[in-house]
Amino acid sequence: MTVSIRVDPASGRKVFDTRAAKANVSIAGKGYSIVTDEALTTLPELPPGATFNAEEQAKYRAFKEVRRGAADYIAMEGDFAKYLADVYSADPVPREALTDECEILVVGAGFAGLLLWHKLRAAGFNDVRFCEKGGDVGGTWYWNRYPGIACDVEAYSYLPLLEETGYVPTMKFASGFEILEYCQRLADKFGFYEHCLFHTTVERTDWDEAAGRWIVETDRGDKMRARFVILANGILTTPKLARIEGMETFAGESFHTSRWNYNVDLRGKTVGIIGTGATAVQAIPELAKIVKDLYVFQRTPSSIDVRDQRATTEEEKLAWAGEPGWARARRARFAKISAGRTAMKANDDYLSGKVADFKERKQYERALSPEELLEKQLDTNFRIMEQIRARVDAIVTDPKTAAALRPYYPYGCKRPTFHDEYLPSFNLPHVHLVDTAPVGVRRINQRGVVHEGVEYPLDVLVYATGFQWMATSTFNMITGRGGRTLKQKWESEGTKTFLGLHSHGFPNLFIVSGPQGGGGSFNFTDAIDTHSDYVVWMLQTMRERGARIVDVRSEPEAAYAEHCRQADIASAPLRDCLSYYNGHGDAEPGSLAYYGGGRWHRLRIEAQATLEPYIFDNASETEPTAQSSLHA
Ligand SMILES: Cc1cc2nc3c(=O)[nH]c(=O)nc-3n(C[C@H](O)[C@H](O)[C@H](O)COP(=O)(O)OP(=O)(O)OC[C@H]3O[C@@H](n4cnc5c(N)ncnc54)[C@H](O)[C@@H]3O)c2cc1C
Repeated sequence: MTVSIRVDPASGRKVFDTRAAKANVSIAGKGYSIVTDEALTTLPELPPGATFNAEEQAKYRAFKEVRRGAADYIAMEGDFAKYLADVYSADPVPREALTDECEILVVGAGFAGLLLWHKLRAAGFNDVRFCEKGGDVGGTWYWNRYPGIACDVEAYSYLPLLEETGYVPTMKFASGFEILEYCQRLADKFGFYEHCLFHTTVERTDWDEAAGRWIVETDRGDKMRARFVILANGILTTPKLARIEGMETFAGESFHTSRWNYNVDLRGKTVGIIGTGATAVQAIPELAKIVKDLYVFQRTPSSIDVRDQRATTEEEKLAWAGEPGWARARRARFAKISAGRTAMKANDDYLSGKVADFKERKQYERALSPEELLEKQLDTNFRIMEQIRARVDAIVTDPKTAAALRPYYPYGCKRPTFHDEYLPSFNLPHVHLVDTAPVGVRRINQRGVVHEGVEYPLDVLVYATGFQWMATSTFNMITGRGGRTLKQKWESEGTKTFLGLHSHGFPNLFIVSGPQGGGGSFNFTDAIDTHSDYVVWMLQTMRERGARIVDVRSEPEAAYAEHCRQADIASAPLRDCLSYYNGHGDAEPGSLAYYGGGRWHRLRIEAQATLEPYIFDNASETEPTAQSSLHA
């Protein structure tokens, strides 16, 4: 046995030491700066007479339709597999392949993995093993280390377990680097590292009916058995590349933002960045500070709202030190906010409990019909976007650049972004916006990007082309009862889950924050928290009942999937654009995310009280047959 795996004499269980060392000391950075110029930290007044009238609606529609079909992505395979290499850690720690058994195997060591471990351990489940593709914990915050990275949900609500760790984030919107360190702090404090196999990618997960176990195979040659598998593999983990002719011929350095190559010194270089989504919005102001020339290739502009970053005050630190439960209370208040923009603006008086609400609620003389309510929501949404568009004009001095930076779609339809330095970057003489609307960059050659006959020679090309939403390819590797993968089931029947957590035919499998997973808020760690609580509840329930296997009945699953579909259809006008949230216009209604907090919780509580949606198999433990036994 290698030193990276030993057996704990007290429990007889294997203990791991597979965390990889950091590759390079230059991997460091900061997030949002504090900007004091009020003209940059406040939105302009609403332009007079702004209503979402027929003319404006037509403008939105045209903006959308002209882009239809433009989103064309390729997998990072063959020539492009290099973009997936882990540039953050030293080589994988050597270890032998495992062919043994554990009770619970979790895929992923991001916040979901960390929170699951915290809760499972507290509930007395210790035979838990994690497999993580990366060399350390953090997930999103391990992979994304581009300059300027920060959370957009205020850190006091976003970072879980702040009381348990005694940690207070240094900034209201903490940098990704600080969040990664926080994840490492959580892992250290709760003994996570001993349970995790790093640099280990799960490639197959097959249900063995006879043994009542999942067989989990990895890229390290492991073939482990687990009674339960929990997918905590994230919503935005698989980076994607736009299909661009000639991209493999580019002779300079190139990388994807989720694998930022700190070995490439960008100072004094001519750099191109393709994409202007949430990542690019955070990275561009930092790049502009160091490069010689920056070419920003944009297909669709993001909505750039005010960030208003600040440091945590001494008064806050003092107050929170004397207020047990302050962070839990803050997270709970955050979770009550039903409007995304209001949540992201993070009103301190409300979140700290100083005021019961942050605005006067509108009172209508009579109850509004759903159509009337939708119209009002669309109007309010339009007015916010008008202010966001007015902000572009107020800040960006070149009228042509300003026109290209104005977004025409409902607020929140694409991931909303926040920055006080992004728009001013375009006033710098060395930052050039190349408007490639509506189809995006179509050609790259050895020297750089070519657009409309103009060549833009580059030293370095950065792909800020985002991620697959909802880790869709992962579901291809899970084979349940009848030899069918989860993806095959969903392709033939439509996405079907119960609460997003179970799918019929896939016993003892839990999906954390996957398609149709609800119960969360605009704070993703809130959904993770809720889903982890549910999983632990189910495992405890099974322990108490002596149940070996749980599956979900197909009727409640079908009803829940239909509910997700209807909820998606009802709110579709508010998300009427092409974005990764809706598969660029191709996703079936109800097949991706579902955030309906209240309804999801009601269904969950009912299910937990009656246990009706579940099929428990209480048969006594079946010993593995010789054929299926994979014990080392
Ligand atoms: C740049 C960026 C900024 C964000 N900012 C915010 C924010 O401000 N607020 C917010 O609420 N949310 C934000 N999010 C969403 C964020 O992903 C979640 O908040 C949260 O971190 C997700 O945690 P997770 O553990 O579920 O998934 P992840 O953090 O994605 O972790 C999943 C892990 O699973 C591993 N994995 C996947 N497949 C396999 C496999 N087959 N085998 C082994 N390991 C595997 C991955 O390597 C990854 O480490 C942001 C996302 C991104 C990309």
